[in-house]
Amino acid sequence: MDNKLLLDFGPDTNMHAVTGGFDAHNINTCLITHGHSDHLYLEEMHIRKKGFAYADADKNAPATLHMYASPKTSDIIRGYDEYESLEECGALKLHEIKAFEKFEAEGFEITPLEAKHSVVLDPLIYIIKGEKCLLYAHDTDYFTDATWEYLEKNKPYFDFVSLDCTGMLIDYPGSHMGLKGNEEVKERLIKIGCADENTIFVINHFSHNGKLIHDELVPVAQEKGFIVAYDGLEIEF
Ligand SMILES: [Zn+2]
Ligand SMILES: [Zn+2]
Repeated sequence: MDNKLLLDFGPDTNMHAVTGGFDAHNINTCLITHGHSDHLYLEEMHIRKKGFAYADADKNAPATLHMYASPKTSDIIRGYDEYESLEECGALKLHEIKAFEKFEAEGFEITPLEAKHSVVLDPLIYIIKGEKCLLYAHDTDYFTDATWEYLEKNKPYFDFVSLDCTGMLIDYPGSHMGLKGNEEVKERLIKIGCADENTIFVINHFSHNGKLIHDELVPVAQEKGFIVAYDGLEIEF
């Protein structure tokens, strides 16, 4: 986001930087949603280590990546074989955060909220507020009561919402959404004043189990007011 914030650190992070033409090595802040390997793949960190892709004395070597994660996700990060060496060489710095406790990073005000996903992973979704405000909701089913309570009480207005649409035409109860869940979230966000007709809604994180290819999903989603994401999609708002 704005070339300052990375959302999750999945197995394609470096490939996305190359194909998407953004300078991942100058992004120094990363918000982790949870510890599933499509969102957290620490092997990809090695390329930021001095002595690996960069010589020790190389002035262009990436600065420390500040990684923010929930307590259980932080445990997973600390349990990674190479964690200590990544921290010792200055490639990685872990910050433990909790749902509903705001913090600041890179000039953004960030509020983690509870996700309804694998409970053992203590998963988070994020409100990211700069000049505009974004809700990043991956991976999650229809939000938890505590998250709705927070949204109803604080009423942040979202310019942009990215929603988990793993199932497309089918549901994934307890862990993800399909289009039906996306519509319910959208309707409730509008009803409580967190979104309106100017909010950009994007859907993302599709599974093959949903049985639609991109071109088949686009018209169905468009009718419901959703933009279907694809690798390399850029949206300005
Ligand atoms: Zn997941
Ligand atoms: Zn996922």
